[in-house]
Amino acid sequence: MMTAPNDEDEMDRGPLTLSVVVPMYNEEEALTALAARLRPVLDGCGEPYEVLAVDDGSTDATARMLEDLRLRWPQLRVVSLRCNSGHQAALTAGLHRAHGTYVVSIDADLQDPPEVIPQMLALARADALDVVYSVRDDRSTDSVFKRRTAAYYYWLIRRLVGAHVPAQVGDFRLMSRPVLESLKALPDQRHVYRLLIPSLGFPSGQITYRREERVAGTTKYPVGKMVLLALDSITGFSTAPLRLATAMGALSLVVCFVLLAWTITVYSLGWTLPGWTSLVVTVLFFGAVQLFCLGLLGEYLARIYTAVQARPTYSVAHDTATVEETIS
Ligand code: UDP
Ligand code: MG
Repeated sequence: MMTAPNDEDEMDRGPLTLSVVVPMYNEEEALTALAARLRPVLDGCGEPYEVLAVDDGSTDATARMLEDLRLRWPQLRVVSLRCNSGHQAALTAGLHRAHGTYVVSIDADLQDPPEVIPQMLALARADALDVVYSVRDDRSTDSVFKRRTAAYYYWLIRRLVGAHVPAQVGDFRLMSRPVLESLKALPDQRHVYRLLIPSLGFPSGQITYRREERVAGTTKYPVGKMVLLALDSITGFSTAPLRLATAMGALSLVVCFVLLAWTITVYSLGWTLPGWTSLVVTVLFFGAVQLFCLGLLGEYLARIYTAVQARPTYSVAHDTATVEETIS
């Protein structure tokens, strides 16, 4: 079944059923294997499709290899970012440019099996769903560190943001055109899509899959980037840490009053010994609480600051689809 094109722009190009967005950063080792596995699946779907490879400022041979691939794979479209902007920003670049009625985002390292894509599409159509999540029900191929940190991440996020956020759902998902249009209407910020999309409330379903091992190369998500993602997830979707600062402030105040009463009592009883230990402990304790609260406030201030600056999170150097349109 072919869905009617929803704007003139799309009519010019002919309706595309499926866009597959693949953000990639220094994936020269995985790229050949990705194309070899993704292409037969998409060709086999029998639907018009495009693959949007978003080169997130790679410094290895990824860009050159993509150009080579494009010569043999007409459905491959390359969007190159000027510098490394991060996985979520690269995803934004791809999602905003995808033309398909349905869009699937997938990692380049084949940890998410492309063979599941037709299943996602069939489920979306059969149940009239706008979002199909893919849930990793088996992560045994991930390192113990990755599994532990992921478990803590989803536990914390579900407590802070809400149980509507599905656990073990990464960025391998299908979205319909209405979801895409809603995302495009949002101001350009550092989005965390695995939290943002459930918050939009579109009808959704899910399929499960076994997470595979990275086909080649090493992770492009070092601990620093994982911490940034966790911070963006918390500060972007929950005000609980701010409330925690308030609660701690209130508690400190109560402790202060107790200490004050104690000091006055001790003073009135004439027991005013030097009290060096209690003084140091008090100063250290309140100093620590104040710094912690300042740190929390700083996190939110940083978000407001970047939002007020309204700078784009990525900058597209060129888009092969636009170049082709200009030539024709
Ligand atoms: N990625 C990206 N920009 C970055 C880091 C990662 O586009 O700054 C891409 C990467 O090439 C891959 C996906 O994001 O396609 C997920 O990264 P990776 O598989 O290395 O993360 P992990 O599975 O180890 O968490
Ligand atoms: Mg991976």
